[in-house]
Amino acid sequence: MSDTGLIGSLKSKILGPSDDEISELKEDFANEIKILKETDSITGLASKQHFWNLFNKRIEQENNGSFADFSLLMLDLSRFHIVNETMGYEVGDEMLHAVGKRLEESLPNASNRLICRIYGNTFAIVLWDIKSSEAITIAKRILEGLLPPFRMTDNHVHVTSCIGISHYPHNAKDSNTLMLQAESALEEAKIEGENNYAVFSSDMEIDSVDRLQLENYLHQALDKKEFRLVFQPQMAIAKRRVSAVEALIRWESRDLGSTVSPAKFIPILQETGLIIPVGEWIMKEALTMCKKWNEKYPWLKVAVNINGYQIKHKDFVPSCIKVINEVGIDANHLILDLQESALSKDAEKTVNKLNELHDLGVTLAIDDFGVGMTSFHQLKKMPVDTMKIDPSFLRDIEEDPKHNEPMVDALISMAESLNLSVVGEGIESEYQMNFLRKHGCHHMQGYFFCKPLPFDDVSVFLAKFNPS
Ligand code: C2E
Ligand code: MG
Repeated sequence: MSDTGLIGSLKSKILGPSDDEISELKEDFANEIKILKETDSITGLASKQHFWNLFNKRIEQENNGSFADFSLLMLDLSRFHIVNETMGYEVGDEMLHAVGKRLEESLPNASNRLICRIYGNTFAIVLWDIKSSEAITIAKRILEGLLPPFRMTDNHVHVTSCIGISHYPHNAKDSNTLMLQAESALEEAKIEGENNYAVFSSDMEIDSVDRLQLENYLHQALDKKEFRLVFQPQMAIAKRRVSAVEALIRWESRDLGSTVSPAKFIPILQETGLIIPVGEWIMKEALTMCKKWNEKYPWLKVAVNINGYQIKHKDFVPSCIKVINEVGIDANHLILDLQESALSKDAEKTVNKLNELHDLGVTLAIDDFGVGMTSFHQLKKMPVDTMKIDPSFLRDIEEDPKHNEPMVDALISMAESLNLSVVGEGIESEYQMNFLRKHGCHHMQGYFFCKPLPFDDVSVFLAKFNPS
């Protein structure tokens, strides 16, 4: 019989905790550790480890039993890192927590789902016992549920998201393949635009066969002279003239009988290493054209896109210098549009390479700023001159000015505080142009002014906007 009340508490003070109490404490402690292990500290959802355990266990059961249908949804928040950048990581974590809560609200039946933040700002959601058509209805509901702005400190923050779906047992019967398929579908959804979903289909596998063929044709494209460049003017609004043109590659494949989008073939150039010789060709061609225009418009610069693979290559700097010398143009006519993602890797090596080019007079611009992972801290260390705001921010200011204007405003202020000039990209309307002007951004490019043009048409455009 155990002592209770005054006698019990006196006893425990004199003798310390009883054996029962110790084992109770141990049990509490073990429970707490278990909860910590099974819970993601930021969102309160299942931890990654717990998620995989439950997911694999259920798949094993189904494979040995009734093969009951379920769906895996991968959800990615785009532009999330801008919250970290402009409001701090603490707010970023709060936001992830709030997104987790919204997901739970969209899926009220806790026993029928498993939700986890699988990495960064990507969530995995498993919906047990449902048909694939039902998964689509739920995916739409989730996307809608994330549309209303999140109230963070004094701001309303909008997130956009995409969902990729794979289905058990129809698509695959193991967790890894299901995950990869949901990721492929997610990529497909992103291509379609923001707030979209895509269901994995065998077409996505056929794509990889097409890919092999594309790869073969790409290997010959340079020799066959199938690449050409078009140029999109960049307007200096205050000076009312064209300050630069951005070179954009086009591939007209004779074998395919069509033009292939850069979004499709540039990743292949990158993965095959062909981007190195093709990149050198692009730079030479772009600078050669620029030199011709410079006879009439000596201030004109040309921007060349550079991705991470190119910067990482050991000969990146010598190859740029070689091309500049071969063309015989001053290095300050060259702008490098650096993909934001390229800057976050090998930061120190990248900074050294960029410094070398910057010292020669090359202008360095960060392309599509706001969607990648550059931190304010990294940005301060980079010798960059210009920030090109990602077009998605500008698209949104027109659709929902009240909530998106502060975001663009914050980006411009951030650029100003770092002494960077700002270029607005993808300007399609007068509204966007006026908004940027009002906020101190005076360099813009986009269809509103001009689509990318071949060499001769650029010359006509220059004559119109830069009367000598
Ligand atoms: P980017 O550098 O962000 O280039 C801007 C893209 O937006 C171009 O697409 C351009 O045609 C398009 N664009 C320009 N103004 C507007 C507008 O007002 N509205 C809309 N909706 N789009 C607009 P493009 O030529 O298809 O290029 C896509 C991406 O492929 C480029 O994005 C760049 O990352 C890459 N790329 C293109 N050419 C090259 C190249 O020569 N080298 C490398 N490494 N990458 C390239
Ligand atoms: Mg660019």
